[in-house]
Order: sequence, then structure tokens, then C-alpha cells
Amino acid sequence: MSRHPTVVVAGGGLAGLVAARHLAEAGIDVRLYERRDEVGGRVRTIERDGYRFDRGFQVLITGYPAVREELGLESLALRRFAPGAVIARPGRRSTLSDPLRDPKALPATLFNTDVTLGDKLRVLRLRRQLAATDLETMFEGPDQPIGDYLREQGFSERFISNFAAPFYGGITLDRSLETSKRIFEYTFRTLSSGSIAVPATGMAAIPRQLETRAIAAGATVETGTAVTGLEVDGADRNGASHRSVTCTLEGETDRTLEANAVVVATDPPTARDLTGLEGIPTDGKGCVTQYYALPAKSDLETGRRLVLNALEDAGPNQIVPHSAVAPEYAPEDATLLSATYLGAPDADDETLGERTRQALGAWYPERVFDHLEVLHTEWVPFAQFAQPPGIHDSLPGPRSPDNGVYLAGECTKWSSIQGALESGQVAADAVIRDLS
Ligand SMILES: Cc1cc2nc3c(=O)[nH]c(=O)nc-3n(C[C@H](O)[C@H](O)[C@H](O)COP(=O)(O)OP(=O)(O)OC[C@H]3O[C@@H](n4cnc5c(N)ncnc54)[C@H](O)[C@@H]3O)c2cc1C
Repeated sequence: MSRHPTVVVAGGGLAGLVAARHLAEAGIDVRLYERRDEVGGRVRTIERDGYRFDRGFQVLITGYPAVREELGLESLALRRFAPGAVIARPGRRSTLSDPLRDPKALPATLFNTDVTLGDKLRVLRLRRQLAATDLETMFEGPDQPIGDYLREQGFSERFISNFAAPFYGGITLDRSLETSKRIFEYTFRTLSSGSIAVPATGMAAIPRQLETRAIAAGATVETGTAVTGLEVDGADRNGASHRSVTCTLEGETDRTLEANAVVVATDPPTARDLTGLEGIPTDGKGCVTQYYALPAKSDLETGRRLVLNALEDAGPNQIVPHSAVAPEYAPEDATLLSATYLGAPDADDETLGERTRQALGAWYPERVFDHLEVLHTEWVPFAQFAQPPGIHDSLPGPRSPDNGVYLAGECTKWSSIQGALESGQVAADAVIRDLS
């Protein structure tokens, strides 16, 4: 490799930050440009009046291999959810847990009638079956919608509608369970070996840590600057197969910069615009997460579990007891909850607040939620790219753009923190090899 080639990374989401760190560790002069004023992309947190609002409810699955490789989990001070969930419907709530990881919840799980005894045994069987498969190969082979897969595995309609639809619908932002079964298998498998958690100071602590690591490795990170154009100079210089890419940068000072390579690690629609690659998926799945305050000590008593809506009605898909899981998410005199609505509900913020009040009132008939105060509403039109069965077979790879331009980002793997982190590793590796 020539001494200190320059590589531009466009985008400071998880993928770009990981790519920047690995490139810098290889001795490359790395310059990361992030369009927004802060890094993190889809993983950001707003801090206001002692509350922390993640920009759309999301969690870290600690069993993801790239999470273990790229993050110092101890310094994130993770606050963990209890395994399983509370399944709610008008007048009734039930707990479904993982008896292997949460023996105290065994009686509640055994007597839970929202799923059948056969389903509970099938969960254990599937767990054994998937534990024996290699995570690396989970995105290979035949694919089908999650719903069909669960039916083929023998799960009852009760299990599918009461638990799988809201739980995996919450993960895939698709309650119809039409999403690729690969997402189900990967998350089911990694959930069995790890936990669901958030950093004590909010999800933004994840990109902050990655940024610190990238800078420590020698990368420069400039926020408030967008990469708006890439021009590839394909001509060999002095007969050598040296390529350069001229990047147009727009920010406080507009300028151009010549780089030996560029890693495009933006959101998928911008990546498609910058690279012209038709294969980058741009259909998105969205959601709305609304945050609420209740007085101190008015927790939902779920034992640090999510509350899933068993019914597909106008109410939220799930309600999250944030401050019960991470007390740092709320001031001492308050309880913080959120509700997530999948897709783009045809309602304003106030109506969503009212719907959540009604849902909670129906699920907890013994309690009154008139004083539930709406604090913040986060509309996320593009949270993940849509992942119908088979889509992962045709996703572009890190070298797909060619000519010194590389692609990182979840859109080269699958839509998740794991996909984004891993894509950064793989893109950096491709650049390092090609510049050698
Ligand atoms: C509400 C929500 C819930 C989710 N739930 C989960 C979950 O529970 N678990 C999970 O694993 N995953 C979840 N995800 C998905 C996960 O967050 C994403 O897959 C991942 O963060 C994508 O990272 P990325 O780096 O590929 O892209 P992004 O996060 O989109 O980062 C791209 C970056 O590029 C920047 N950019 C764009 N254009 C330019 C430009 N021209 N120049 C410079 N910079 C530019 C953007 O500002 C952004 O910072 C969720 C996402 C959302 C939004």
C-alpha cells in the first residue's frame, strides 16, 4: 500500500464509524463526513428535561457477534430487559418468558394460555435446532415469510397472533410477518444467547463510543458536512492502475477533495443517489414512537418486559417501560414509557396519545391513565429497508459500485445494528485489500 492513502467515508452511522476505525487502524488517512450535526444516523437520542428519548424505540441485542467485536459493552453500562414479554389485551395481561434464562418466570410462562403448551415445547425445540446452525450461513438457502415459516414449524395461530406478530412485528416493523424468515431465525437465535438492552445514557452512547474509537485510531470525523457528489477518475496515471475519486463536500465550507477510495455509508436512498446502484433497496419500513410521563413509581409492573398488544387494533404495537429498565432515562420524580405504532398511522400526535391512554386503560382496568402526559413524538418514515423473502440474495456488496467507490451500510447485509456494524467491517476490509 502506498504511504497513507486517503479514504473518504460518507456517513457517520454505525457502518461508517466502524469502517473509519478499521481503515484508520490499517494506517490509512481516513476522513469521515457526516451530514448531520452529530454522528449515529438512525441510532440517536434526544436529551431533554432529564429524559432521554431514543429516536424511535430500539434496542441492542447483545448476542449479535459484531456487537461483541466492535463495542465495549461494559462502558455502555447496559440496562437489560427481562426475557420475554407481557401479552396484553382488554382486561387481561399474561407473562411469557424464557424459562431457561428466567427461571423465576417459569410458573407464569407455564400457565400462560395466550400460547399453547405445544408452542412452548416448539420454542425449546427451535432453540436447540437454531443453536446448532452457523450464524454466518443464516442468510443462505431458501427463504419464506416469517408467518409461513412458523406455521411450517407447527406453531399455533394463537402463538402467531398473540406473540410472534407483535414481538417480531416490532423487530421487523411488519406485523403481517411477511418479512424474510432469516430475520426471525437470526434474532431468535441471538436472543437465546444474549439479552436485549439499552445503554444507561441512551442508544446514542453506541455511536459515541464508535466515534471515540475511530478518532483514537486516527480517523478525522467532520459533522455538518455532506458528501453530495462523487466523480471517479478512471484513467490510469503514469501507466499505474491508480484511481482517484473526487468528492464534493457541502457544509460550512463547500469544497472538493480527492481520495484514493470512498466508502459510501449513508442511508440506502442517499447511497443509491450517490452511487447510481439500482440494486440498493429503497423501500422503507417506518414507525412512530411516542414518549409519555407518569408520576414517579407508577410503573407498569411488567418486571422489565415489553408490553405487546395481542390485538391488531388502532392501539400501539408495544409499550415500553423505559425508566423501569433504565432509571437514567427519566428524572427521579417521573416514570417514562413509550408506545410504538408501526408504519405511518393516519393520526396526529394528540390522537396517538389518546389511543395509548385508551389501550393502557383497557389493558390495566384497575388503573387510571388520565394523567399520562405526552412528552415527545418521534416519526421515523425510514427506519429499516423492507426485507421481503429473498431480498438478501440480491443486495449489493461492498465492491458493487466499483472504481474506487465502496458501499457499506445495512443495505449490504440486513437491516439491523448487526448488519450495519458488520457491513463497516467488510467494506473496510475490501478497501484495505484493494489498496494493498
Ligand atoms: C426506529 C428504529 C428502530 C430500530 N430498531 C432496531 C433494533 O431494535 N435493533 C437493531 O438491531 N436495529 C434496529 N434498527 C435498525 C438500525 O438502527 C439500522 O439498521 C442501523 O442503525 C443502520 O446504520 P447505517 O450506518 O447502515 O445507516 P444510518 O444509520 O442511516 O447512517 C447513515 C448516515 O449517513 C448520513 N448521511 C446521509 N447522507 C449523507 C451524505 N450525503 N453525506 C454524509 N453523510 C450522509 C446520515 O445522516 C446518517 O448519519 C432500528 C432503526 C430505527 C430507526
